[in-house]
Amino acid sequence: MSKSCLVSGGAGFIGSHLCEDLIKKGYQVIVIDNFSSGLKSNVEKLMENSRFTLVNTDLTQKLPEVVKDAEIDYIFHLASPASPSKKSPISYLNHPLETMDVNSIGTRRLLRLARKKKAKFLLASTSEVYGDPKQHPQSEDYWGYVNPVGIRACYDEAKRFAETLTMVYHHRFEVDTRIVRIFNTYGPKMNPQDGRAIVNFCIQAIKNEPMTVYGKGKQTRSFCYVSDLVNGLKRAMFENDTNGEIINLGNPTEITILDLANKIKRAIKSKSKLIYSDLPADDPVKRKPDINKAKKLLKWQPKIKMSQGLDKTIAYFRKVIEDED
Ligand code: NAD
Ligand code: UDP
Repeated sequence: MSKSCLVSGGAGFIGSHLCEDLIKKGYQVIVIDNFSSGLKSNVEKLMENSRFTLVNTDLTQKLPEVVKDAEIDYIFHLASPASPSKKSPISYLNHPLETMDVNSIGTRRLLRLARKKKAKFLLASTSEVYGDPKQHPQSEDYWGYVNPVGIRACYDEAKRFAETLTMVYHHRFEVDTRIVRIFNTYGPKMNPQDGRAIVNFCIQAIKNEPMTVYGKGKQTRSFCYVSDLVNGLKRAMFENDTNGEIINLGNPTEITILDLANKIKRAIKSKSKLIYSDLPADDPVKRKPDINKAKKLLKWQPKIKMSQGLDKTIAYFRKVIEDED
């Protein structure tokens, strides 16, 4: 019988790409998702496969028997709201308590399950644990600069707590864990309501509507295409010598948000104007991963150029908009 992976948040953007890949490689895949930000369309095709099981439940609630009784060799824990947009109905800013619950209660549930099943465990953490970083680029040994009472804290601190829980289970109960700090990732299957920069810019540019740059657009991010990220997640789980490790995954090519908006506008040949509004509170000024550890330990680095990744992402959003009409 093939090995079995549990993926929490498997109907979400990154989770559904990961599931597709795992199914292709012959694994059994069980997804736990409550569809708070995940999409049915992300898993529709997967549902046709007999090795794929979807469990529609909230991870903060007791795990259903179908999960408790299953053979589980690997747990990828991705369930969590992930967007910081104030305007998005699915963002962590608009679901602060749910965000804290899934990263605390939900993480504990899956760590307990990992211990019981002797399964390997991966936590999808985030570059947000570095807050508004004073070290640039950010390496794994940097402790971060997070405002613990700011509006983003419900996510940043919840992920930091999830990391602590993971390390406690690792040290105290010898659970085989790895923490992956994911930097900005993009690609098809992102939720159109999500409000993150690439989602907004693509949709606005396709519709020739104003593109909303926050602040002067001088803040930077480093964007990783989703297939590269998924390869990194698999390596972090399946390669040797990752037990107990903390690893950055992201693309170190840094870009200002203004340059990103213009790049997307050009790629779409859009007539949109750029409009400027206030920068949200605690919006990090700079972000770029130091990926030397991933290069060495996982023999991993991103391969997809931004122009290629954007083309695929734009094609996806064109289809989403066409289907809406
Ligand atoms: P997403 O919103 O598309 O996926 C998250 C999934 O988790 C959704 O399907 C959602 O329905 C599910 N979920 C949320 N709360 C749940 C709960 N209580 N019970 C069951 N399911 C629940 O977001 P994503 O971008 O795919 O992010 C996946 C993971 O990666 C998250 O943990 C996020 O924090 C992390 N991450 C993502 C990025 C990025 O740029 N995409 C960057 C850093 C970290
Ligand atoms: N941003 C923007 N316009 C938008 C959405 C986001 O200028 O419509 C900015 C946001 O303020 C941040 C950057 O783009 O500086 C990246 O934001 P995103 O929400 O994608 O993710 P973050 O890296 O902040 O978690």
